Formats: sequence, structure tokens, C-alpha cells
Amino acid sequence: MGRKYRCVRDHLPRHVTLNLNRTPTLATSRSTTGTLSLFGHASTEANVVILVRSRKWRLGRTLVVATVTLIVAPVVALIPPHAPWAVAALGIGAMISRRRWLERQTVLNLSGHCPNCGEPLSVERPTRLRHPHALDCDTCHYEPLLKLNLNETRKSETTSPLTN
Ligand SMILES: [Zn+2]
Repeated sequence: MGRKYRCVRDHLPRHVTLNLNRTPTLATSRSTTGTLSLFGHASTEANVVILVRSRKWRLGRTLVVATVTLIVAPVVALIPPHAPWAVAALGIGAMISRRRWLERQTVLNLSGHCPNCGEPLSVERPTRLRHPHALDCDTCHYEPLLKLNLNETRKSETTSPLTN
């Protein structure tokens, strides 16, 4: 009783620091250009940063969503009228799993201007790159389509603990 436990950190010399954070993994982000097109308007240029998702990342995210779905579906099936909740949970889980599996590239950043009104366009959060990728213009509410010039891609390695 009364015995003090000291942290491992207290026994280390001052110049030694412990890195208790997760080891960051390398992710490949690419800067490229693209065109924003809208029917009846002149296309505009856009600068885009995309993150190329590895097969391992896609498979991992797909399995996580599928596992959570298989846990949640029987639980929500306990609530009357039972079957619709289970079917809805399975359907939503299957849809999200499919999206994670198909997320080969993620748009991290975008800068360009709307072909209709000229207002700046951007992405608010990282989103799965679709082909074609529609963007919402908050000003005129048109949806310009983004098409990437993949042959102008510049590869850069970034370190991020959240992505790989
Ligand atoms: Zn616009």
C-alpha cells in the first residue's frame, strides 16, 4: 500500500521522448489539372489534388462497414416492425460498402471557377472521385462536371496518419 508507480517516461533521460502516436503511413497524393464543363458555357480550368487509394485501404474500409452492418442489422431487427429495419440497415450498409470499395481516388482539394457565374468552386471535405464528378455551385446552383487531365498528374508523397 502506498507504493508509487512511476511512468516509464519518468525513467528516460530528458533528451529521449516517447512517440506514443500511431506510426504515420505513406499516402500518395497527386496534383493535376482538370476542366470544369457545363453545357452551353465555356469550360474553365481547375487545379485538383487527389489521393490514390490502395487496394488494401479500400478492402479494409469495405470490411469495416460490412462488419458494422452485420452487427447493427440484427440489433435494429429487434424493434417492431422488425424486418423493414433489418432490410434498411443491410441496404444502407451494402451501399456504403460499395462506395468504399469503388473509392479508387479521393478529391482532397480543388480550386476553380464556375463556368456559369465565375464564382470560386471548392470541395468542403474529401470526397470520392466520380467519373464524371459533379460539383455544386452555391451561387448559381448549376452542377459543373469535373474532368481530370490525368496525363498532367504530378505525384507527391505525403505523410498522413489517417490515410494510406
Ligand atoms: Zn455558378
